[in-house]
Order: sequence, then C-alpha cells, then structure tokens
Amino acid sequence: MWIGSHVSIAKGFCAAVEASVAMGANTFQFFTRNPRGGNAKALDLEDIAKGRAIMLEKAFGPPVAHAPYTYNLCSARPEVVVFTMAHLEEDFSRLQAMGVDRVVLHPGTHGGQGTETGIRMISENLNQLLPLAEAAGVRILLEGMAGAGSEVGAKFEELEAIIKGCGEHPSLGVCIDSCHMTGAGYDLRQWSAVQNAIEKIIGWQRVGALHLNDTQHGLGSRKDRHARLGEGHLGFEGIMDMMDAIKDQPLPVILETPNDDAGYAAEISWVLSNI
Ligand SMILES: [Zn+2]
Repeated sequence: MWIGSHVSIAKGFCAAVEASVAMGANTFQFFTRNPRGGNAKALDLEDIAKGRAIMLEKAFGPPVAHAPYTYNLCSARPEVVVFTMAHLEEDFSRLQAMGVDRVVLHPGTHGGQGTETGIRMISENLNQLLPLAEAAGVRILLEGMAGAGSEVGAKFEELEAIIKGCGEHPSLGVCIDSCHMTGAGYDLRQWSAVQNAIEKIIGWQRVGALHLNDTQHGLGSRKDRHARLGEGHLGFEGIMDMMDAIKDQPLPVILETPNDDAGYAAEISWVLSNI
C-alpha cells in the first residue's frame, strides 16, 4: 500500500522525501507552488535527483502534486482563468522535470454563474490544457469536493459531465477525498455502494489518488473541515470498509489531516497495522 501525507517542499524535493521516510510513508503530496498562488521557485535538479534516488531505494509509489487553491477554471473573472491556465501550463513542465505524473486540481467555483456554466467552462478550459498535460506525462486529477459555496464537482455526475465534455481524455482522472465525499452525501459506511457508483458514473480506472481524512461535519453537510483519523464524524470504523477495498490497489493514499509529522506517523502506522 502507498500511503503518505501532505508535506511542504519549502526546503526542497529531497527534504520532502526524507520527511516522508521519517514518518513511515512511501508516497507524499506537495503543493506545486505557494497554495495562495504566485511565483514558483526555480527547480533544483540535483536536489530532485537525490530525492528520486531515495524514493527508488525505499520503493515509493507515485507522489501527488496539488494545485494551489487560487486556481479556478470557471471563475466569472476572466483574469483568474487566464492566471490559472498559464500557471497550470508551467506546473506541468515543472512536474515533468520532477518525474511526478499526477496533479490534483479543484474543478472550480462558479461564483453564482450556475453549475451547468461552471461545468462547461471547466471542460472548455481543460480541453486546451489536456494536450499540454499529456505531452508532459501528467494526469490531471479533478478532486471530488464537499459542495461548499459554489464548488463544482461534489456529485460524481458533475465530474462525469466534465470528463465527457473533454471527450473522456486519457490524461483526465479524479481524486476522491473521504471528508469531501461525506460532505457531498456519500456514506462511506456503505462503501461498496459508493465504489459501485464511482465505477458506474466515472469509471474506477480514472481514480488516481485518495485523500484520507476524517471530517468535522456529518453526512451531506456540504462542509469541508478535515479532522484527524478517528477524531471526526467517520471514526476509524467509518473508513475501514473503504480502506479494506482499496488496500491492494495501486493508488496513493494521502493524509491531509490537521497534524504535524509525528501525528502523521501515528496515523500511517495505525492504517498499516489495522487494514
Ligand atoms: Zn484538495
């Protein structure tokens, strides 16, 4: 099983790998740049090579990049869409240099334009980005959201509509999040039904990452407040069926719980010894 946490790459790629090894992880997630957007630091290829060597030695699974929260492919403000497109294009080539093959992207917030318009805008903009992602060997994973505010992509059908709008492009996948799915009304205690819905509506082969978080709010709350494993609405028992079903799959599992490295280490060890 590939499991790790979200880590900072402020001190470089290799430091992120080393921090992950220290917490017992064999994958990790990092922001492609400052999560509030802005400029990315120049890449240190030597540092990346050092990190890759450790990953090889420790048999790491694929790491996961996460796009900044400021990106929005369905903003009513054209300059935000332009900013998102330009930065994503740059992110693809940076990820290619790092040997990272997947990036999680929040589909977008429509800001009152309506879900249908949001889905159409996201598809149209992705249609321009996907050939660039494909050329860089990067798969865009649209994250399933809780449905807070005007977020697009809480329902599996909305993700499906975006994927269909992109001609089911092979470089487009999804990232599922246990906190967000609960907020969106999917009961993980009935995991086989949820997995069947994903299979039927999206296609399980499109799932490229799982965010493993407990949630401060209940089923269908449309709220996105992560909690530590076992300390939220799901509890340990709420994730057991899901973890049991996915443990043998080639899927990076990423913790985004409110934690420090010691807390992540404890969660990883709990998952590995109980699943
Ligand atoms: Zn996310």
